[in-house]
Amino acid sequence: MAPSFRVLVIGAGIVGLSTAISLKRKGHNVTILEKVANPRPIGGVINVPPNPARVLVEYGLYDLIAPKVDSHMKGIHFRRYDTAETICHMDAILVEEDYGAPNWRLARSDLQEALMTAAKAAGIEIRLGCPIDSIDQALPAAMLKNGEVIGADLIVGADGVNSVVREAVLPGEKITRLDHISAYYIDVERSLLSADQEVSPMLDENSIWLAPGRQLIATNFLTRDRFIMILSLDQLLGSEGDWTKQVPVSDVVERFKGFHPMAANVVKYVESDHCLVWRFPELPRIDTWVSKSGKVVIVGDAAHAMLPFAAQGAAMGIEDSACLAECLARATSTDDIPKLLDIFQNLRLPRVDSVRDKARGMHKMVHLEDGPAQQGRDKMLKARPFMAVPIGWDKKHIDDSPGDTHPLYDAYLYGFNSFDHTNRKLDEALKK
Ligand SMILES: Cc1cc2nc3c(=O)[nH]c(=O)nc-3n(C[C@H](O)[C@H](O)[C@H](O)COP(=O)(O)OP(=O)(O)OC[C@H]3O[C@@H](n4cnc5c(N)ncnc54)[C@H](O)[C@@H]3O)c2cc1C
Repeated sequence: MAPSFRVLVIGAGIVGLSTAISLKRKGHNVTILEKVANPRPIGGVINVPPNPARVLVEYGLYDLIAPKVDSHMKGIHFRRYDTAETICHMDAILVEEDYGAPNWRLARSDLQEALMTAAKAAGIEIRLGCPIDSIDQALPAAMLKNGEVIGADLIVGADGVNSVVREAVLPGEKITRLDHISAYYIDVERSLLSADQEVSPMLDENSIWLAPGRQLIATNFLTRDRFIMILSLDQLLGSEGDWTKQVPVSDVVERFKGFHPMAANVVKYVESDHCLVWRFPELPRIDTWVSKSGKVVIVGDAAHAMLPFAAQGAAMGIEDSACLAECLARATSTDDIPKLLDIFQNLRLPRVDSVRDKARGMHKMVHLEDGPAQQGRDKMLKARPFMAVPIGWDKKHIDDSPGDTHPLYDAYLYGFNSFDHTNRKLDEALKK
């Protein structure tokens, strides 16, 4: 039987919780240390496409997550910003059938809560209000802000884009964030919109509006009394790490110039304390995720925070969690941990690199200025909507990225099975 390790997971975000669950399932003794006493996820909405959903279903989370997804809204209308013309419709039910796993869209807090519930039910110790100050990678041990020192066989840093654990993995290296995109976040009382005939059609769907230099994502959860809109801009506003910075409504009104009244007039109903400005975090490629001792590893945004335009940031972290647990399951003693973490990193890096490129490509694609390139994009989307199954895909697993503009890319992205892929690659690597 594989040995049971003492594992510290730093951070109780989506990736920390997923990692703790994956390691606990393999029999490890897992403790999570979370800085915040009462974690409150930001961002309103999250997409869980088939590749991470496949992992969460395997972890047994289907019954906790599926009821939180607004099933009658399954799908997204992509609209042109000024005429409201439908460019394409992403049919979530078709996507599920085609890729063989759910394609969820739900409130971020619901996903976080489902993971927290599953982690607690699995018997994982979760210590909230426990910020770590630093990591001694050689021991390894976590030094808490309160002076406590906690040792372990393995420390997993899932502590987000400004990771403290990363400093132990890359001592003395300064990682400069690449942030260059911002967004306005607004939420509005749904009942106010339903009384206005001009904007009420917004409540019948989830929609994404493509405009020059801007993208509007409108989300309509029937389980919530607030209607959410996020307008991304191809420019830098907001301050690093601040998800609560309020801005005057007039700033947002200005940014909706040129939008069809169905979308633009929603802003009439926004109260000033429901109008925020965000700055999207992005890291450069980090090619070392494992400390010199081979006993500390970073995952999720700590290792690879990326632009949100492919809806794959958390997805990559959830895949990390599956891959890490499968790798460690091959250990016969703690001595094997460094070698297996090395394999983990080498398996994950090419996948994450490819998806980061995809997210950057998507960012350009959805912010195109009006003109021939935009017309070409819209024509292409009419012929094949976002996430539609690629023509000619034989449903076989694609292990390596064919390139993010290749016709089979979506099959590689959404058809990915982190468990099977990891185990096949482990068999090859350990045979050598
Ligand atoms: C606008 C937007 C939309 C997005 N949409 C999607 C989407 O649809 N689908 C998708 O897959 N991804 C999406 N993403 C990306 C996704 O949100 C992130 O990749 C994901 O939340 C990262 O999770 P994480 O657990 O790695 O990090 P975080 O969520 O940042 O969690 C880190 C945790 O570590 C804790 N922590 C930090 N420092 C310490 C410390 N010193 N000691 C102890 N604990 C600490 C923090 O309090 C936090 O709880 C989006 C991102 C943005 C910005």
